[in-house]
Amino acid sequence: MKYHDSVEQSAEYLRLALPLMSRQTAALTPVSYAIWYEYVAGINPSLQVRIDELTKDGRLLDDATTMDLFQHHVADVDHETAQRVTQDLQKVMFDVSQSAAQTGHKAGEFGNALEAWSADLSASPDPSETATSHLESLLSHTQDMQNSVGLLKTRLDDSQKEIEELRQEVNRAREAALADGLTGLANRRGFDIALASCLAGLGANERGPSLLIADIDHFKHVNDRYGHLFGDKVIRAVAQILMDSVKGRDTAGRYGGEEFIILLPNTPLDGAQALAEQIRSTVESYRIRRLDNQEYIESITLSFGVARHQAGETPDHMLMRADRALYRSKQEGRNRVTVADA
Ligand code: GH3
Ligand code: MG
Ligand code: MG
Repeated sequence: MKYHDSVEQSAEYLRLALPLMSRQTAALTPVSYAIWYEYVAGINPSLQVRIDELTKDGRLLDDATTMDLFQHHVADVDHETAQRVTQDLQKVMFDVSQSAAQTGHKAGEFGNALEAWSADLSASPDPSETATSHLESLLSHTQDMQNSVGLLKTRLDDSQKEIEELRQEVNRAREAALADGLTGLANRRGFDIALASCLAGLGANERGPSLLIADIDHFKHVNDRYGHLFGDKVIRAVAQILMDSVKGRDTAGRYGGEEFIILLPNTPLDGAQALAEQIRSTVESYRIRRLDNQEYIESITLSFGVARHQAGETPDHMLMRADRALYRSKQEGRNRVTVADA
């Protein structure tokens, strides 16, 4: 667990982070909040050193620097850890909120006891004036205590709600950091995380996932002939076909400029090959219109490399085998699917 802070401490970090964060020129986004929270909590030494350097002599952080800090020093936490951390933090908030409620309850009991004692004394034939007034003051203090504990509980409940909203915002920011801006597919980092966690979760006797790598054929020519903007349109169209072709636990990603990748956790090699063939044929017959005169251009085609994970194989080695198979598809004339050697 990353945060071992008591609720008082985490509420304190919240208070410390907010003014630091709002002093910067960067927008008040979850990304900005995440870096300042970690900064004041002192749990991210490399981030701290970097922020201290960047804010020396009163300099302020702008949006680009903030995003850069987030990507290099915060988003590097893997998704599961981040999720667990925020859940732990929430649990701390909840526990302390409960204990604050209990404190309120105890104070209430104490008040009741004193009240009863005071009533007894008043009813006695010889009540001591001093004792009664002393008790009354005690009672009023108890009342104050109850009020302030009630206030504390409300504040803690509010903080807990804020933390939950924050958790959702951080999750959204994290998801955005793992997605490709042009196509909405997983970006390279997002895909690498999906592949690593898929391989890490494999049981001893479980067969590994399959992988497709696809690269648009002669894409430089498409850009040269129809312009970069049209090239982007082609990339989006191919991405959409990929998205429509995968289901459930499969992950489709954009691995580079005009290179795509699909992870199929439950598919054997022949199934992966068949899917590649199906996508290849769909893309080949898909017609795209030019941006200027709306005329259809010639077919766009994809070349594929397909590989299945072998026992004990690293992600890099598996990617390398798929990439070599893709290279063979290119060499043998493009618009084809090649299965990797074992
Ligand atoms: P091959 O069949 O061997 O893959 O040939 P190719 O022309 O597709 O390959 P090459 O690697 O020579 O060129 C890829 C081109 O993709 C060059 C680059 O300008 C273009 N590209 C990369 N990313 C993007 C992008 O985001 N948008 C657009 N429009 N073009 C891109
Ligand atoms: Mg290409
Ligand atoms: Mg390429």
